[in-house]
Amino acid sequence: MAGTLYLVPTPIGNLGDLSQRIIDTLAQADFIAAEDTRVSLKILNHLSIKKPMVSYYRHNTETSGPAILSRLLAGESCALVTDAGTPAISDPGEELVALCAQAGVDVVAIPGPCALVTALAVSGLPTGRFTFEGFLAMNKKNRRRHLDSLICEERTMIFYEAPHKLLSTLKDLRDTFGAERRISLCRELTKRHEEVRRTTLGEAVDWYEENQPKGEFVLIVEGAEPAEEEPISLEEGVRRARELYASGVRMKDAVKQVAKETGLPKNELYQLSVTKE
Ligand code: SAM
Repeated sequence: MAGTLYLVPTPIGNLGDLSQRIIDTLAQADFIAAEDTRVSLKILNHLSIKKPMVSYYRHNTETSGPAILSRLLAGESCALVTDAGTPAISDPGEELVALCAQAGVDVVAIPGPCALVTALAVSGLPTGRFTFEGFLAMNKKNRRRHLDSLICEERTMIFYEAPHKLLSTLKDLRDTFGAERRISLCRELTKRHEEVRRTTLGEAVDWYEENQPKGEFVLIVEGAEPAEEEPISLEEGVRRARELYASGVRMKDAVKQVAKETGLPKNELYQLSVTKE
């Protein structure tokens, strides 16, 4: 019987975020696939866990992925860990999960640290509906296309960014969404210098033009104002009421429904709807 691939999150800065289930899964897996074996070895040493490790990173997925899959198919269990946070979120874990899903191998995700959720929760911006946009492309054309696709986005948007690219990304976000749009810059989450800067895109650009960005960032950007709906004219309301009437609804009920949907005055709507054209 095939083994299981476990997606094991690791701390994004604070070792205290290693849960008991994370520790147990690492201890019980037959082997560990790590994005950077040196980074993962530090965590395993901290937990006094000794395990065989293979490396699985962006540039060896084509060879390492199938090799891990064949061990899983042979019955071994594997714990996948990436440099920090939840595997498969903006890292190559995504491809290994797809490979396993295609081959019918069980994949179990252990809940735990993830930079985007931590940042969104603390941002102070609406969390009800959001969209995760990951890293913006370096390539100018792809970057422009990505940003243009977000111009009318009403949901809160989440971006990952490296410190050396932060300022140019903030300028692109300001030029796309306007200087007044709110942003929460979540820096060094769970670490000693954790900071949440709740400001506007214009002020964020001004600040980082004067102050060099340091550490890791998640950018939470407010969505666009909902587009205002065109008000419905009285003539259009009458047309709708008559249409409902023609389909068998009593005129009184048709008018009631249209008035409720459009906010048009019921009496006026009724008078005009029953008046012969
Ligand atoms: N898989 C990870 C997760 O679950 O969040 C994300 C991996 S992605 C390659 C790394 C990016 O996550 C960084 O460039 C940064 O945008 C964000 N990040 C990771 N740790 C962070 C932290 N402690 N504070 C703020 N952002 C962090």
